[in-house]
Amino acid sequence: MKVTIFGTGYVGLVQAAVLAEVGHQVCCVDVDGERIAAIKQGQLPFYEPGLAPLVAHHLASGHLGVTVDPAMGVAHADLLLIAVGTPADQDGSADLQQVLAVADTIGQLMGNPKVVVTKSTVPVGTAQQVRQRILHRLAERGLDLACEVAANPEFLKQGAAVMDCLRPDRIIIGCDSERALAQLRALYAPFNQDHATLSHDKIVVMDLRSAELTKYAANAMLATKISFMNEMAALAEQLGADIEAVRQGIGADPRIGYHFLYPGCGYGGSCLPKDIQSLRHTAASVGCDTPLLTAVEQVNQRQQQKMAHTLLARFGPDLCGRTFALWGLAFKPGTDDMRDAPSRPLLAAIWAAGGRVQAFDPKAMERTRQLYGERPDLQLCPTQEAALAGADALLICTEWQPFRTADVEQIKALLKQPVIIDGRNLYDPRQLGELGIDYYAMGRPSFP
Ligand code: NAD
Repeated sequence: MKVTIFGTGYVGLVQAAVLAEVGHQVCCVDVDGERIAAIKQGQLPFYEPGLAPLVAHHLASGHLGVTVDPAMGVAHADLLLIAVGTPADQDGSADLQQVLAVADTIGQLMGNPKVVVTKSTVPVGTAQQVRQRILHRLAERGLDLACEVAANPEFLKQGAAVMDCLRPDRIIIGCDSERALAQLRALYAPFNQDHATLSHDKIVVMDLRSAELTKYAANAMLATKISFMNEMAALAEQLGADIEAVRQGIGADPRIGYHFLYPGCGYGGSCLPKDIQSLRHTAASVGCDTPLLTAVEQVNQRQQQKMAHTLLARFGPDLCGRTFALWGLAFKPGTDDMRDAPSRPLLAAIWAAGGRVQAFDPKAMERTRQLYGERPDLQLCPTQEAALAGADALLICTEWQPFRTADVEQIKALLKQPVIIDGRNLYDPRQLGELGIDYYAMGRPSFP
């Protein structure tokens, strides 16, 4: 099948590579010329495990093409997917400029009937808005062509995106058109089987508005789980309990389950924060109160400040002359994405108090350099060990595997003071206490 994808970000490029992998002819369009030129040279605009070889293979095989020319993209296929960004606007609503710009482009260029699919995370009603926009552009050209829309939100996780797209849990298709549904069923047929049970139909068909809401509801549920565990962790700390034991205890109940029950330094990234904000905004626009979502956000904002509070309580409000090792800059392991990463408010708090940071992340160093540039209070270190040298404490913001397996005795030896503030609960508090390390975890007891 031929398919065109607008946007070569985490969603667009991964889907493109995976659709090419199962034999479709995929054309990717992006407005960012530098990005397209780099992809053509085999340089991806971001890190995602397993993506680079897949893209290189299918650029060479001819199953995948990338272009800045939207006319080429629109002409390539009758099935057009929109996977551009929907960042938060200043008022918290989803900024739909990129999505509607693609709709305008399609309406200005299409010369035959099309099925247009929103893969971006968009508020309820957007697919219909996209259709109206395309029809409006067609009318300006004096054309009357069929244009059907579908909502097909994406659920991939950065860091595991290729596997998530190759083996999706579910494929949500919202539409009110048989033609659109038939095309999307054909597109996703190669993925529509559960490899464990060999049962078919991961495709869940629903109306447009429900599909759009499903994506927000899923992210709201995930954020709620995180904030719930962070609230329990705060309580455990005050009560002298261990949240890790509590986590295991509640996760054993199949109605609760173990997934996504980890307390930490707050949720971040390019999706959860903006999607919760956008959903609250949508709810407010229809006069619907969302006290639960408000609390989820409040808990997260507090949690994102928690490591800084611990640090300032330990070292005092003036951090001039102090240096801190920071392990983990990306918002989660497996990605170089720093959008809304918990490391950022922590860096800001340290700098505001006059402190210096020696930072290391396995993948996000370049991204950090782009974000902060050269500054005297930030040293980007070549290794995790180098970041420790002479620092007053180690701060951990991302649960990268090499941090989990680090030699804690070596950490102690390299630090000026044996202090670890761990936003991801990577170590055993008792073992660190026995080694004489002051260990501050999230919702876990400290052992002197
Ligand atoms: P991104 O910012 O990484 O990429 C967006 C791309 O779209 C950029 O390359 C940009 O240049 C391009 N673009 C902007 N305007 C364009 C236009 N008019 N024509 C063609 N290309 C254009 O975004 P992302 O992280 O891939 O997210 C895309 C959407 O998918 C968002 O709505 C996001 O909420 C959603 N989503 C993201 C994830 C994730 O983990 N990143 C997961 C599920 C859903």
